[in-house]
Amino acid sequence: MDYPSKHIRKLPAKKIVAILATMVLCLIFSSATFAEDLGWPVTFKHSPRLSISPDQNSGKKTVLYDSGPSNPIKRAWDTALISGSGATPELSFQISRSEAKNQWSAWKVAPLHVSQDGRFWTKATLNRSPGALRVRVLGKTLPHAFKILEIAVFHASPESGGQVSNNLRVSFQLPQNSVWPRPLIHSRKEWHARKPTNPYDPSSPQYITIHHTSGIQTYSLAKTLREVRFVQDFQMDGRGWWDIGYHFLIDASGNIIEGRPENVQGSHTKGFNVNNLGIALLGDYNPPVNDRVTPKQMDALIALIRYLSSKYNIPSSAIKGHRDYDQTACPGSDAYALLPALRALNSQAYPLNFHPAIIAAEVLTQPIHWDSAR
Ligand SMILES: [Zn+2]
Repeated sequence: MDYPSKHIRKLPAKKIVAILATMVLCLIFSSATFAEDLGWPVTFKHSPRLSISPDQNSGKKTVLYDSGPSNPIKRAWDTALISGSGATPELSFQISRSEAKNQWSAWKVAPLHVSQDGRFWTKATLNRSPGALRVRVLGKTLPHAFKILEIAVFHASPESGGQVSNNLRVSFQLPQNSVWPRPLIHSRKEWHARKPTNPYDPSSPQYITIHHTSGIQTYSLAKTLREVRFVQDFQMDGRGWWDIGYHFLIDASGNIIEGRPENVQGSHTKGFNVNNLGIALLGDYNPPVNDRVTPKQMDALIALIRYLSSKYNIPSSAIKGHRDYDQTACPGSDAYALLPALRALNSQAYPLNFHPAIIAAEVLTQPIHWDSAR
């Protein structure tokens, strides 16, 4: 996902390490909050408290969860964005920001957007100012599966499009090879994609950047399609982008889902979106969640990267992870570790194991086995 880079880059290395080390926020039921590349990371001094009021069954809404104060946030922000799973519509979220001398702003209600299967996001906007964040959840009962997956703050900067910043130029081109087969890609229609709110900017892909969604890892196609639609709602309504930011998303069963059309500019790597294809693995591949990239997911990623890099002549050096551009955990350590193997694809050292989720029927004439150790 997207992340403003200018400010973070100026931090001394020690501080960055400290921020990374404290980015983990243990939550209830050994679930955790991991605030990372959606904005500026929000960390908390103490483990968030879970306070369940004794009269929670009285039918009144009570404070079910209180994060306590986050660590100080020195940069000015105006928006807090929170996402997670396992919510019910009766819950409500509120945020507050520290002001001078241990004063806190009045609680601001953050409207809850929750899907039928409990995926939720919520945001609240204040005036632009620095200050620590505090989040609380009110309701009658905290659902057992409730998890906050991400908390971030930023200043709202809707997608502007067409920005040619930090543009990278490819200095060489690979020899023209034949194009690898196009794997099966589930269309926008299948997940009932909303139309973009603005015309796309055209793109001539020269880079591929791997992300994770910092959301849930899904296996069934039906659940994956719902999750992709959730990501679109979250990025359009939460972040104010014109459409889902990624060009492709891949689930744990190797299903590849179309995001933005591949020939238009995405919104996934702030400052480096020009001619850059964004591929997101559904899930969170970084501690403490530690989803693992499955072999089928890896196969799908290989099939997709081979197809795209051969079609657009993208050199292996232009295949990177989001964290290569920015101070972010994205795409998570487990996914990031795959990058050297993905860059070696053009050497044909990794024959592809086609399986039903990614099979391109017109191309598969004989089984190919992927014999990597993974
Ligand atoms: Zn990312």
